[in-house]
Amino acid sequence: MTAGFTLRGGLVCDPEAGTLRPADVVVRDGRIAAVVDRTAGSDGDGRPAGEHRTTPDPVIDVPGLVVTPGLVDLHTHVFVGQDLGVDPDVVGPPSGVTTMIDTGSAGGHLFGAFLRSTVDVVGPRVRAFVNISSIGTTSILLSGELTNLDYVDVRVCREAVEAYPDQIVGVKIRASHNVAADNGTVALDRARQVADATGLPLMVHLGPQPPSLPQILDRLGPGDILTHCFTALSGYPLTAQGRAVDVVARAQQRGVVFDVGHGMSGFDRDQARAAVDAGFLPDTISSDLHRYSRDIVVDLPHVMATFLAMGVSLTEVVRRTTVVPATVVGLDRLGVGTLRPGAPADLAVLRVTGTGGPETAGHPTGVPTVTAVLTVQQGRIVHRTLPGHPTSYPEGHSTR
Ligand SMILES: [Zn+2]
Repeated sequence: MTAGFTLRGGLVCDPEAGTLRPADVVVRDGRIAAVVDRTAGSDGDGRPAGEHRTTPDPVIDVPGLVVTPGLVDLHTHVFVGQDLGVDPDVVGPPSGVTTMIDTGSAGGHLFGAFLRSTVDVVGPRVRAFVNISSIGTTSILLSGELTNLDYVDVRVCREAVEAYPDQIVGVKIRASHNVAADNGTVALDRARQVADATGLPLMVHLGPQPPSLPQILDRLGPGDILTHCFTALSGYPLTAQGRAVDVVARAQQRGVVFDVGHGMSGFDRDQARAAVDAGFLPDTISSDLHRYSRDIVVDLPHVMATFLAMGVSLTEVVRRTTVVPATVVGLDRLGVGTLRPGAPADLAVLRVTGTGGPETAGHPTGVPTVTAVLTVQQGRIVHRTLPGHPTSYPEGHSTR
């Protein structure tokens, strides 16, 4: 087992600096040791010409590939064994995702069971929003966790946050008519109460009204999240024509986070395109990956490619899938989603094709695609399909 390695010759996308530039990434002891610019004078091993090579660390050549921080998926369902749950070890590494945020699969009464389901995870870092409903989103096929207000228990939710402060990063509610019947605003106010009392962000899903989009946005402040922001179910298209854009733009201005949350019916491509054309970009790009959405979403890189196809630049797409979602849930404090020296060495090496722009000069034009070819989790290679190397997992990894 070596202490480190260098990813050499890639195009490094630093989401904090907003740059995409030729550089080498040096990994040592599970952390990022350095990002070294490659210039005309460099000698090809990431060091300035003439500098003596002192380390025996192996080199992995990644020419023509894009190196980013490990992807952070702000909206997933990874309660393994529960109806919606997908296995983080199965879906994370092949997609370059090194941090997965479960969004409300479990409520207070099931949060211990959720954690038990993640104890065997060897790949992605897992955190969660706790559902304001104590039974959580038990099944997407049988919505209704808010129809009985006895389950919408402020005390139970607060106790979960207090019991699991390192795992719970926010409060989730599916405030839509198909989930809450006529209880939407009452349940929303209870979720608001828990978020205020605990200082955590509140994530609200947008679906069939009521509550209406303005009713939801009225209750969201800086750092709170509206997910499924481009759904076609709300009756408030985010187009350049309607007032909705103004309502939304004002909320975004005061710091409400607009999250894609693609999923099954959480994303309408025409609505997203109209919003992007009008200059409204989502703050975070997430998959809402779960058992029933997997065939539609595929993975987070596919959702990234969707926004590249709309003309959003690669650096903007990468920001919204790394440092921004990490910041929303407070993980940037650990360096997650960044390339800072000393940060956990979570990295994705992506093959990006079809953008046709200068950022990926040399690649063919056409429909953009994004594919993870190498994934590093805290310095361990957990996925690799570079030419000449079969997919491999670290020792001890279960391929269940
Ligand atoms: Zn979801």
